[in-house]
Amino acid sequence: MDFCWLSHGGVVRILKGRFPLQKPGRATGFDFRGCSLQNQKVSSRRGMGACFLVVALLAATALPAALAQKATPAPVPVIAVDHGPNAPAQMGKHYVVLVSLDGFRYDYPRKYGATHLLAIGAAGASAPQGMIPSYPSLTFPNHLAIVTGLYPEHHGIVANSFYDPARKQYYKISDPKAVRDGSWYGGTPLWVLAEQQGMRSACFFWPGSEAAIDGVRPSYYLHYTNDVPVAQRIDDVIGWLQLPPAQRPHFITLYYPDVDHNGHEYGPDSPQTKQAVHYVDQQMGRLEARLKALHLPVDLIIIADHGMQKLSGNWVTLDQYADLSHFHTDGPLLYPDSEADAQKAYEQFSAAIKSGKVTTFRVYRRINAPAHLHYWDNPREGDPIVVPTGPYLVRAHAFGKPGEDRLPEVGAHGFDPRTMKTMRAIFFAEGPDIRRGVQLKPFANVDVYPLIAHILGLTTPPVDGKLNALRPVLVKTGKQAATQPAAGN
Ligand SMILES: [Zn+2]
Repeated sequence: MDFCWLSHGGVVRILKGRFPLQKPGRATGFDFRGCSLQNQKVSSRRGMGACFLVVALLAATALPAALAQKATPAPVPVIAVDHGPNAPAQMGKHYVVLVSLDGFRYDYPRKYGATHLLAIGAAGASAPQGMIPSYPSLTFPNHLAIVTGLYPEHHGIVANSFYDPARKQYYKISDPKAVRDGSWYGGTPLWVLAEQQGMRSACFFWPGSEAAIDGVRPSYYLHYTNDVPVAQRIDDVIGWLQLPPAQRPHFITLYYPDVDHNGHEYGPDSPQTKQAVHYVDQQMGRLEARLKALHLPVDLIIIADHGMQKLSGNWVTLDQYADLSHFHTDGPLLYPDSEADAQKAYEQFSAAIKSGKVTTFRVYRRINAPAHLHYWDNPREGDPIVVPTGPYLVRAHAFGKPGEDRLPEVGAHGFDPRTMKTMRAIFFAEGPDIRRGVQLKPFANVDVYPLIAHILGLTTPPVDGKLNALRPVLVKTGKQAATQPAAGN
């Protein structure tokens, strides 16, 4: 694959106009937080040096430059990868814009009155009792599950941070080198699937989108940064959809971190989380309106990776209950030097649980992990497996000085979504392929992949997700997008 790495000779025009210049809460990024099962620190991935092709995708009136510079961060460069034009067979197909609102719990829309999202659900499809994340209900494992149709143990990103015993290396989402290394990722993300079949794609952030997976990156993508001008996300998406049909991406992702970050910092019941919900809901209203104004056949699908739960108690520290001196560890994940070490630790944990000394977690040899977790098939999951029984932060070893070793956050996620309803996520969809007023029962998030592939008329490899749960949302069940010429070309 040849990448089109050019200099900053392109023109970037960033629009401000009618968008608010302030976001609630802190400027934040991908979910770098502890996320309940991890203990890594918040970190930034700003300032990646590279030579980007900056694409001029936007058209409208800009604010005076001085005001723009003062009020907002610099625009994030869009990187273009030259895959050529859309194949003729793909050009007439519909478009999908997939938005992730990180940490947007399934019940927030009604709890906090997210009127735009509720309206999108009424005009299309929704899942009032939520979409069920894959275990662990963490950000990277679930974003990858949604775009690959595979459970984390099958796409390989089994946590936000983990160890690979075969590679003898750690993957951490705070490490740009690892995040951009395609060899960590399994499965075929939707943007890779599209590009491989001659359909252009674009990602305004998505875990994995910076890596060449199967040697393929999206036609347009950005390196992750915490600081993005408020208007840029929607402006870039609309700009991509205004490209000539040959270059116009049919599959586009977009990502907002705000609700997750306020949920962690202040808890799911806080006014700050309510404020973040209203902010991203307002953005979704703007996005929907601007998509409609394009008069293109665009399906808008808005999901979250997981929910949020207020934490209880204090740290649960595993080495208080078992000898972990012969383990690599990462957060709560345990990687034994030998089978005997794994069995010994398992027996020590089991004895502590049996005696009643431990009630905050269950323990399994990996091969015996409960089937519903789908968490037994990959050595990156470690062995034994420790599963919290409630909203408890679990770690292998203590860290920090005495007295400074408090829980780092109010809210968290990562827990078993089949036993903890607060882990469930939103699902909304609206567009020419989506039936009006459909209310879905809870379904697994791996099922989103076959839905989007079906709408785009893409052939998929075998995946864990099935179309059946989401088939009721489709306007037609036979051939559709593939055989319908798109309007507005
Ligand atoms: Zn989070």
